[in-house]
Amino acid sequence: MAYTQPILDYGCSIFMNANKKYLSHLDTIHHMGIRLISRALKSSPVNSLYAESAILPLSVRRRLLFSNIIAKVSADQTNPLFNILFNNYHLNKFEADDINITYKNQPLIYYYQKQNPLYIYPNKIIPIQIVVPPWIIPSPDVNYLINDKKSNISCIEIKNKYLEILQIYTDFTLCFTDGSKTDSNTGFAFIINNENFQYRLPHEASIFTAEALAIFYCIKKISDMKIKKAIIFSDNKSVLNGIDNIQQRNNIIQLIKQEYYFASTNGSQISFMWIPSHSNIALNDKADQLAKNSINSKLLDFYIQDDLKNHLRKNIVKLYNDQWTNIQNNKLRTIKDNTTLWKTSLRKIRNEEILLTRLRIGHTRITHSYLFTKTPHPICTCGFPLTVKHIFECNKYKKFREKLSLPSIEIALSDNENMAEKTIKYMKMINLYSKV
Ligand SMILES: [Zn+2]
Repeated sequence: MAYTQPILDYGCSIFMNANKKYLSHLDTIHHMGIRLISRALKSSPVNSLYAESAILPLSVRRRLLFSNIIAKVSADQTNPLFNILFNNYHLNKFEADDINITYKNQPLIYYYQKQNPLYIYPNKIIPIQIVVPPWIIPSPDVNYLINDKKSNISCIEIKNKYLEILQIYTDFTLCFTDGSKTDSNTGFAFIINNENFQYRLPHEASIFTAEALAIFYCIKKISDMKIKKAIIFSDNKSVLNGIDNIQQRNNIIQLIKQEYYFASTNGSQISFMWIPSHSNIALNDKADQLAKNSINSKLLDFYIQDDLKNHLRKNIVKLYNDQWTNIQNNKLRTIKDNTTLWKTSLRKIRNEEILLTRLRIGHTRITHSYLFTKTPHPICTCGFPLTVKHIFECNKYKKFREKLSLPSIEIALSDNENMAEKTIKYMKMINLYSKV
């Protein structure tokens, strides 16, 4: 799979809206791969193959890979693809429901939009324009108030450390930044010299984006206010680690570093300090509250490339999951309501994995071989048609199920390690383990 997947994906953004008849040739190879890995029977429905193996269908993968390109190109207007994808085709006049629009000879973006109603227009993506070469940006002064874990140090010790630091940075303007993401609001705030600034962000923004933008806008403001010396306190370690790391390629971190360079050429000396959150440092707690209460403040209506990427990914995967949950007449669907990998599917013994896969999909050798041998449907010795469901309901095996306290098939085949072990035991007891 690791070998064939990149070959199946290569250049897919170009051919993803080709005729289904041609694309299905690739699907055949893909299904063969999943069957080899899972040892699911040839008669197994393809939707079950995907859901059981937690491997995405090629069509979904193609959309994901294309959405990555969309996110990347939309953030960079100098990219030669930008005009091709977004500008030449009167995108704003496009109506997703207009059936009169023919998609033939139209850019892929039309096709993509048609399928993805949650598409975000590129004019809302913050352009990442890095004009300063990274090697001329001086290494920022990043410090950590404590090097130990917060849980190992008392609030009083943290406070004392903080007061010590203030003695070192006596002539520095104190700035505090914080980001917040709750179910109802995403935003950030910063305080410079007791002056408060609050902003709201689109809900798709991540907490990392909120924290990083707080620092970015804080630096901008320090520079605008022509403050000579400032120290920015933040309780987000990953953003500060990013600023400290010379090899960090993250978009917002690069923007922060560039802004830091502009500020320093403008005469502002800025230091950064990580402080643990909720450690009774009044201004830090205040920044935290301001960020949380940013719901009525000015909305910065733009997206960061990484957030757009995650947002698109989430929606594409959700659409796929919804397709699975709405599927009818599928044996696996009755026991599995998601397309994620079940932990009980990964076992130390290969035969157990195969057994569970086949039972869950509902296609086994004893119940479905007749399709290949063109013989009649097998009948259980009790007279009922032999199906996987019947194996878990047959009166003949009732005593074994009671002994193992195995209830319904849905519970027996669910993602529960205890049940998985009992099911394996049950199949051995009734002498069907090696016949599945
Ligand atoms: Zn029976």
